[in-house]
Amino acid sequence: MTSSTHRVPFDAPLAPVPLLGKKPFVVPLHEVEGLDSFLREHSSIPAVRLCSVLWGTPCRRPLCPWCAHEKAKALRSLWVEKIDPREPSLFVRLSGASTHDLSQAWSELSSARKRFQSTRWLASNSRSWMRTTEVTHCWGLWHLHDNYVVFGTPLELETVKREISSRWVAAATAEGVVASPGAQYADYSRSTAAVRHYILKGIMDASDEHARGRTPGDILRGYHQGDADDAERWAEVERLFLDHPRGIILTQRGGALRNTANAADVDFS
Ligand SMILES: [Zn+2]
Repeated sequence: MTSSTHRVPFDAPLAPVPLLGKKPFVVPLHEVEGLDSFLREHSSIPAVRLCSVLWGTPCRRPLCPWCAHEKAKALRSLWVEKIDPREPSLFVRLSGASTHDLSQAWSELSSARKRFQSTRWLASNSRSWMRTTEVTHCWGLWHLHDNYVVFGTPLELETVKREISSRWVAAATAEGVVASPGAQYADYSRSTAAVRHYILKGIMDASDEHARGRTPGDILRGYHQGDADDAERWAEVERLFLDHPRGIILTQRGGALRNTANAADVDFS
């Protein structure tokens, strides 16, 4: 952390979490013509340059549109297989302060998460949960969130809803990470299908709906279309993955969702 870094607390969520079932328009980035050769030519990550899902040699990097698409498919089928759509759940969104520096934002979120999960409080108060990290860029700042969907008994869900935000803020504060209580969100999901869509959308979806910030998928699309600022932002995204070759874990499952038969198929980011 440097004192010169401009920091803005992420106090006001950019828009309400879309849990009402309205599916946002998504650009299937893995189908954009010419993007594969563009990325092969311009990526600074050797594995991504050599990726070929078609020939059975996927790079398995979460920022690769083709591998991200495959992983999203695997997670969706896991979800359909394991989760009853009528089962009540909580949707939780946890974050630290937004910053200009993506690597710093990642390190802070990771250390807060490590501290938060070290007590196994969530595991003790749920039947299962899934976490995905959302990365967006808006107003010159990187916004990182950990999104959780949590399943459990009514008593467990009530406990998690009541306590998770303050436990998260305490864990972040103990790590020296700024996390405002007002920026955290925990409430019952109104639609499990909408939560599934939201939590499994991955960082490589491009949407054209930038009210909540632009995803790395939007940024790659802008770079492909010739936007010089997006070229710089994409370089920052790639640098994060180069600097943490094994440390960028964007999805995680706990409890009954952890030990599943096809875990090997989905655990590749
Ligand atoms: Zn790939």
